[in-house]
Amino acid sequence: MSSVKIINLTKSFNNTNVLKNITIDVEEGEFISLLGPSGCGKSTLLKLIAGLLEVDSGDIVFNNESVINILTEKRGAIIVFQDYLLFPHMTVYENIEFGLKMKKVTKDIRSKKVEEILNLVKLKEHKNRYPSQLSGGQQQRVAMARALVLNPRILLLDEPFSNLDINLRNEMREFVLSIQKRLNITTIMVTHNKEEALTMSNRVAVMLDGEIKQFDTPKNLYENPNSIEVANIFGERN
Ligand code: ADP
Ligand code: MG
Repeated sequence: MSSVKIINLTKSFNNTNVLKNITIDVEEGEFISLLGPSGCGKSTLLKLIAGLLEVDSGDIVFNNESVINILTEKRGAIIVFQDYLLFPHMTVYENIEFGLKMKKVTKDIRSKKVEEILNLVKLKEHKNRYPSQLSGGQQQRVAMARALVLNPRILLLDEPFSNLDINLRNEMREFVLSIQKRLNITTIMVTHNKEEALTMSNRVAVMLDGEIKQFDTPKNLYENPNSIEVANIFGERN
């Protein structure tokens, strides 16, 4: 686990400024959300943190160490994508094992780690199934397991519940939070769902049009919104 500091980060695509001077400070073990409408730059910010995109300017610091020149595999911030991106031709076990194979972890250690994670996400009895033989919630647990088996310092979740129906969504929110607390892993979740952000997070960063409007506790966002835009999001009218 690790603290995360994002300092004056900017990113443009084709001369369009998608992220404007983003500054966020996340404590070790904290669960924060980036809340904002589609297109405001949330996924771009996660990809910059994970090292899947290069920053234009600004800095990203994990535990007091700048990581912008550290390759994504060495950074230890892992994204679980919204559509899971599981390998369809591999079993649950093989999907989870894959990242460890890439890292040249020995077979014995791989097997120990995969079994541990299968227990954690309660998928032991499904380990020989293929993704198409699993429910949406189970597929999501495989995606989580695949990230967690690599022992990330920071877990990045990109709209993790958007493909699940409403009942399953509540169950999975609790499930993800219980694992996050158990491992005490610093987590940044992207969502456009206000309830989700408010109920799951220690703090919420409200993002609009490439900017963080307010980064605060759920209580303060309700009681002391710092602008009309934020008040509109959390006020009675919405
Ligand atoms: P969000 O996740 O909040 O919906 P994104 O970070 O995916 O938003 O995208 C923010 C903006 O940046 C959008 O206008 C999107 O079209 C644009 N964008 C994202 N990735 C790229 C890219 N690789 N090339 C060009 N434009 C991009
Ligand atoms: Mg997105």
